[in-house]
Amino acid sequence: MLNPVKGFDPSKIRRDFPILSSKINGQPLIYLDNAATTHKPRCVIDALSRFYKLNNSNVHRGSHTLSNRATSEFEAARETVAQFINATDTAEIIWTRGATEGINLIAQSYADSVLCAGDTVLVSMMEHHANIVPWQQIADKKQAQVLPIPLTQKGELDLVAYKNLLNKHHPKIVSITHVSNAMGIINPVIEITHLAKMVGATVIIDGAQAAAHEVVDVQKIGCDFYVFSGHKCYGPTGIGVLWGRKVLMEAMPPWQSGGEMIEKVSFSGSTFNRLPFKFEAGTPPIADAIAMAEALRYLDSLDRAAISAHEKQLRQLASTLCQKIDGLTILAAEPENVGILSFTVAGVHHQDLATLLDQSGIAIRSGHHCTMPLMAYLGCDGTVRASFALYNTATEVERFAEVLQQSIAQLL
Ligand code: PLP
Repeated sequence: MLNPVKGFDPSKIRRDFPILSSKINGQPLIYLDNAATTHKPRCVIDALSRFYKLNNSNVHRGSHTLSNRATSEFEAARETVAQFINATDTAEIIWTRGATEGINLIAQSYADSVLCAGDTVLVSMMEHHANIVPWQQIADKKQAQVLPIPLTQKGELDLVAYKNLLNKHHPKIVSITHVSNAMGIINPVIEITHLAKMVGATVIIDGAQAAAHEVVDVQKIGCDFYVFSGHKCYGPTGIGVLWGRKVLMEAMPPWQSGGEMIEKVSFSGSTFNRLPFKFEAGTPPIADAIAMAEALRYLDSLDRAAISAHEKQLRQLASTLCQKIDGLTILAAEPENVGILSFTVAGVHHQDLATLLDQSGIAIRSGHHCTMPLMAYLGCDGTVRASFALYNTATEVERFAEVLQQSIAQLL
C-alpha cells in the first residue's frame, strides 16, 4: 500500500472530472492513456460553454461589446499562458493547434530562412514523429541533414554522443523533447540547451509531454522555442502554444497568411502585423484558448510538486507490480520519469493486451506511440503504455496490474 503524498488527495481531484465516473464495458473507467490526451475538469468544460453562451464573438476587429469581451478574454488567456511558462512578454505567445503545428511553424518559417545546404538539425532517437518529420521535410528542401542523438542502455539521451555530434556537425538547430512520450524519461533540457548554445545552435524544446507534469520555465531552460498542446494538460483539443524569443520571431517570415496577420494589404504589396498576430492567420480557436487558460489555472491552483510526486509514485507502484509478471520487460526502468510505464510481454501482442484490458474498462495505449525510430532502436514494434495523471489512484494501478496478469495468462 502507498503512503499518500502529503497534501494531495486524488479522490477529491476526481470529483472535478465528470467523465471519471463513467462505466466502460460495464466496469468503472480506469483511464491510463493520459499521455495521449487528458480528461477535462468541469471548470474547463464550463469555460467552453460559458464562452459560447455569453461571449461568443470574433476577436480584435469588433467595435461592439461582445467582440470586446471576447477579445479581452482571449488576450487574458495569452497572459495566463505567459505566466504558466514564465515568458516575459505576451507577444512571444503564439496560439497554435498543438505541439505539432508549433514545430511545423518553426520548421517552415524559421528553419526555412536559416538552413543552408549541408547544415545539420539534431533531434534525438526518442522523438515523437512530430519532432522528426517536419525537420526531414525542411531538410530535404534545403539539402540539409537530420541526425538523431543515440540513447544509452537505460534509454536516456547519450550526453557523450550528443557532445560529439555537436562538436562534429555544429548543428544550426537542436530540437529535443522535454519528456519522452513512449518511455516517460525526463530529459535534462537545461544542460541540453546549454551545450547546444556553446556551438551556436538554436534550441527547440517539445514540451507536449512535460507541461502537465513539470513546472516549465522557459527562462531557466534557456531555449529559443518551446511548444506544447492544451489537450495534454487538461485543456481542449485543437489548441496549443508556441513560445519563441521575440528577436527571432520578429525576423521570421509569416507562416500562414490571410486575415489577422496583416498590417496593410494592397495589390502593390502587403505588410504584416506585429507579434504575436503575425503568426495567427485567420480566426483563432477563441473558446479553446480561453478554456486552455482555465486548464492551466486549474493546474497552477494545485500543488504542482505534490502532483508530480503522486504521478511518480503511481508509476513506481505499477512498475513494482509489473516486475512480478513473468516475461514482462519495462522500457527505461530506472531513469527519472514523469509517470509513464511502457513495457513488452514475451509472446503476447501489445494490441491483444489493450483489447482485453478495455473489456475490463481499463484504457491504455498500445503500439509504436508515434515513435517508430525509437521502437526500431529498441528492437520492438510496439509496447503497452500506461500513463498516469493527477486523478489516478493506487487502487486503479492495483486493478490494472491484476487484470494485466489475468489477460497475459489468457493470451499465453
Ligand atoms: N510531441 C510529443 C512528445 C508528443 O507526445 C505528442 C503527442 O503525443 C506530440 C509532440 C504531438 O502533439 P499534438 O498531437 O497535440 O500536436
